[in-house]
Amino acid sequence: MQTITERLASVQERIAVACEAAGRKVTEVRLLPVSKFHGARDVRTLAGLGCGSFGESQVQELASKAAALEDLDLTWVFLGHLQTNKAGLLARTAHEFQALDSERAAAALQRGLEASDRTMDVLLEVNSSGEASKFGLNPDEVPRLAEALVRYPRLRPRGLMTLAANTPDGRIVAASFETMVALRDRLRAESPGEWHELSMGMSGDLELAIAHGATCVRVGTAIFGPRVN
Ligand SMILES: *Cc1c(COP(=O)(O)O)cnc(C)c1O
Repeated sequence: MQTITERLASVQERIAVACEAAGRKVTEVRLLPVSKFHGARDVRTLAGLGCGSFGESQVQELASKAAALEDLDLTWVFLGHLQTNKAGLLARTAHEFQALDSERAAAALQRGLEASDRTMDVLLEVNSSGEASKFGLNPDEVPRLAEALVRYPRLRPRGLMTLAANTPDGRIVAASFETMVALRDRLRAESPGEWHELSMGMSGDLELAIAHGATCVRVGTAIFGPRVN
């Protein structure tokens, strides 16, 4: 069994190798450890190894981990589907939301952010694989929500996020990533705000994502190991 320290090092090495192969700088790719299902203790260990930001997929779990680790200067990134009744709690506890996929959620988050006098970086979640089981906007719906964000000034648009198809067929995954790059480039040219970020790539497909220009890879299992308890 590898330790969490060894697993983090091996993920960092994979990222370095992928960047080298793609002719990119490692500083262009942010590693976001996804701590969902894992306890505050593991997060504390990773914080000690230099990780400052963590991803979660449930608002309640994010809020309780943030509270348990209040003594550390961490930032929290929400990756899950936002139910509007949780928008206030999210606004108070998270620093970034990578899965915005409706104007309704944007409006609820704007109200929460006003109430707590904060702002939040947001990425729009895109369903780039067309799988019915996935959340996210269809690619053709993205420009409209991107335009609408000017009405929610506490939300700072930063880019796009996707979960690629869950398949060993690299061509299908690559097609998802290509869709994302084209969309991001279109938003950068046509929509108000900053649309630089491409959050794509997880434990199984981070190399391919980096080859396609990912600026953030979200890694759970390869760092934390399989879910314990
Ligand atoms: C869980 C999760 C991840 C991490 O997935 P792994 O395959 O465990 O690396 C990344 N992104 C989102 C949105 C997730 O929910």
